[in-house]
Amino acid sequence: MFRVAPTSYGGRGCFAVNAIPKNTTIHHVPSPFTAAINRDFRKEVCAYCFAYDLGRAMKVRLDVASLWFCSEECKDTWIVEEDHACDSLISAVLEKIDVAVARARKTMQSGRGIATPSEEYDVDYVPEDIILDGSPESAEEIEEVWDSIAQRIANSAPVAHNPLKNPMLKVRLLALEEIEWDLARLVAVALVRKYIESKPNSSLPSHFSWTSFYQLEPHEVDLLARVPALLESHVRVFLLLLLVMPSEILPHVTVENVRAVVAREAANAFGIWQLPLTSESEFLGSAIFPSASYFNHSCDPNVIKSRDGRSMKFTTARDVNPGEELCISYGMMLDQPLESRRETLKEQWYFDCGCDRCSQELAEAGL
Ligand SMILES: [Zn+2]
Ligand SMILES: [Zn+2]
Repeated sequence: MFRVAPTSYGGRGCFAVNAIPKNTTIHHVPSPFTAAINRDFRKEVCAYCFAYDLGRAMKVRLDVASLWFCSEECKDTWIVEEDHACDSLISAVLEKIDVAVARARKTMQSGRGIATPSEEYDVDYVPEDIILDGSPESAEEIEEVWDSIAQRIANSAPVAHNPLKNPMLKVRLLALEEIEWDLARLVAVALVRKYIESKPNSSLPSHFSWTSFYQLEPHEVDLLARVPALLESHVRVFLLLLLVMPSEILPHVTVENVRAVVAREAANAFGIWQLPLTSESEFLGSAIFPSASYFNHSCDPNVIKSRDGRSMKFTTARDVNPGEELCISYGMMLDQPLESRRETLKEQWYFDCGCDRCSQELAEAGL
């Protein structure tokens, strides 16, 4: 029905192979490659179907990994489709992350994790002394930070300087901020998929494929130029995963792989919004559907994306001609005037919109 091909303006896009009538479902992804419910909502959103009942707590809990579900059926389906498909490693790693972070945060809150000058460790919390002043402005500067982290965790680093061996640094490191905690869960699931895919005779369905995910466009430099502090968060997530991941997954917990995930999460993740979708909907979390990331944005889209449980559906909004590009709207900015709409797109998705509607409105405005 459609194919992914290079566009005339750069990157790839989806193009109709044949004429497609209005209201045709052209793509359906049953489940995200990885997803994370925002920490604030974790007890109020079903970890399987993403149902949200106006803040009411979900009734069913998975004992390991602290996941909440709207029903026993959702819990059982999650266990089979998600966890069993990955050797029960998803629940195992989520549990390890939650226990480690919760414990470290408690220690920090009690004051025991805060170093005093009398303590022998003169090294402050890990990344601070190596993160650059101001924004990392280039790929090279980001590279330098990661190189320095890699050197410090190498066995040759003195204990006092090695975040994985120095107990004080370890506690500070593990006491992630809430958004880092969510990001750690999202990255961990991606690395579990990578490990499972790397096993001989792996039969992971294509929407769980690391290889497909890896083909997405990375946006590390764009992201860090906009929010420089995230570099430190990325480093903390990487070090946390090194500390907690089970041994079979550890070979995949590399600087390269963690950076690959955070760089692709940026601008490729879909928001999990409270349904029915309105301008008042709560933002519940983020999910990555790699095969759906090839739909480009248009301010006058011919395809509507919609979430159905944990699946994403893409349906034509009008008749589409053969060869026409299939575009969705990335966010709820279509009602905004030209300038703010384009600003939102530039800020969150890093591009200058060249859609027909923008071109026409720009011409009308004499810009
Ligand atoms: Zn549910
Ligand atoms: Zn536009």
